[in-house]
Amino acid sequence: MSLCVVCGAGDFEPLFQASDRLYHTTAKQFRVVRCTACGLLRLEPRPSADELRAYYPDNYWFASDESAASRLEEAYRRLVLRDHVRFVERALGESRARGPLLDAGCGGGLFLGFMRRRGFRVAGLDISHEAAAIAWRRQQAPAVCAVLEAAPFAAASLAGITMFHVLEHLADPRAYLRAAWELLAPDGRLIVQVPNAASWQCRLLGRRWNGMDVPRHLSDFRDRDVMKLMEDCGFQIVRRKYFSLRDNPAGLASSLVPGLDPMARRVRRIAESAAARLVKDLVYGGLVAASLPFTILEAAAGAGSTVMIEGRRP
Ligand SMILES: [Zn+2]
Repeated sequence: MSLCVVCGAGDFEPLFQASDRLYHTTAKQFRVVRCTACGLLRLEPRPSADELRAYYPDNYWFASDESAASRLEEAYRRLVLRDHVRFVERALGESRARGPLLDAGCGGGLFLGFMRRRGFRVAGLDISHEAAAIAWRRQQAPAVCAVLEAAPFAAASLAGITMFHVLEHLADPRAYLRAAWELLAPDGRLIVQVPNAASWQCRLLGRRWNGMDVPRHLSDFRDRDVMKLMEDCGFQIVRRKYFSLRDNPAGLASSLVPGLDPMARRVRRIAESAAARLVKDLVYGGLVAASLPFTILEAAAGAGSTVMIEGRRP
């Protein structure tokens, strides 16, 4: 049995069983439970690190190939990164800290490439050496294959650290946040984004909510859970944002029809003709567009399906 990563309690109530709805890496059923003490949702029992490796497909992170469809997807991904870019730009602009911006869990480095072209010094870190290599090669973003606790940077040397969709995958998110605190210069900013289990989407869709991503998400945080973790690790909460054009509408579309999710189709290596691919992409795109009004509304109510939180290292 695992302990709650937010409050340390062991007691829980079972909520439901679920399997890998999105990528079909296993047929195994997993149990999602709620901490009786603080309400955090988590996988229980927690799969071992060895077992978890099997649930991450080789092509889990995005890298475009040379095809026209893939280039179109990359252009789309750039366009919808705006919320992330603006949020981080504002945080760094208000900070007196000097030094590079480190993206922990940088994947193929699209975000870092964006920030680099806007004049920021950037660095990336990812547990996949292939992802780190692509970030460096395609986005000219220096990236290392490491975990944050063993990152090759001096203490207090960074102006900012971003963690987009990282904490929910970690067995020990506290250790990651503490490592971030050590690496940040005084007044440096940490920006964390996670799916928000206090969202309308989670409440309405339950186990079918894409943000749970069983079995890859070990914890399903609400906004308040992440803020508590960050404050416990010494950060002051500065700002929150509940809307992400990249994540929220697409998340709802993928919850409703996981079989149409472009990433899931690629990861599962679904054989499809060019025509079938186009039709599926168009239907999926239509669903994403149709999801937009609902996701704007839930975000305006402070219950968006993702939350970006800025913390300040005093
Ligand atoms: Zn708890």
